[in-house]
Amino acid sequence: MDRQASPTIGTPGAGARAVLRDLLIVLLALLICQPAISAAATAGPELTFSIGDDVSPEDEVMVREGALLARDYVAATLSPLRSEEMIINVRNSRDTTGGHAAAFSGGDYIVVFTRSAGWRSIAPFDRIHVVVHEYIHSWQASLAGDEGSWAPLWLIEGTAEYLAYDAVAQEGFVREREVTDAHAWSVLDAPEMSELQDLEGRDAFYGEPGPVYSLAYLAVADLVGDGAVSSGVTCW
Ligand SMILES: [Zn+2]
Repeated sequence: MDRQASPTIGTPGAGARAVLRDLLIVLLALLICQPAISAAATAGPELTFSIGDDVSPEDEVMVREGALLARDYVAATLSPLRSEEMIINVRNSRDTTGGHAAAFSGGDYIVVFTRSAGWRSIAPFDRIHVVVHEYIHSWQASLAGDEGSWAPLWLIEGTAEYLAYDAVAQEGFVREREVTDAHAWSVLDAPEMSELQDLEGRDAFYGEPGPVYSLAYLAVADLVGDGAVSSGVTCW
């Protein structure tokens, strides 16, 4: 392993790191405070499930549990998603959009592909995490738009990863330390990969062959700090 080539969370200099922390704080403040007035009275959207043929009962249960967990977590920890209805589509197929996604968010809907390699290769708790991750993207899009231009992509994806793992950790499916260790091991074990400042655009982020979601998770976890979401991410 070439440690010189391995990215580290502290890759940006102290000044850049301070800027990133400020950016994260501003973004989280924007995301959380903006909807607080209009959405305070609701616990989130109605969830409508569209379960395709041949979806296994186990997969259906995990998707339903993930969606319910996501709605409750977002409403309790962040702010309720603005949409009146979220449609959760589950299809026993690979990514029908031509990509290789296990799931994606389309704003007020989510699609999960239970025959995708990304879904089939991960543990049950991680499948729940995937659904929560996509729900977080819907939440991000409902507040800040889904054009992906409001922040570097590593920050958008890293925030979704961080919050989704925080949600499943709060439910006791996994310990936060185990998540952090797994991501750190993944990044350190990567022979070479881009650094954060080179992962701001879609092509760079999604085209990165290394464990880019792990790097993004660790970067956001580092920016949030020890206070975690419950106390570090509050409406101020
Ligand atoms: Zn994502």
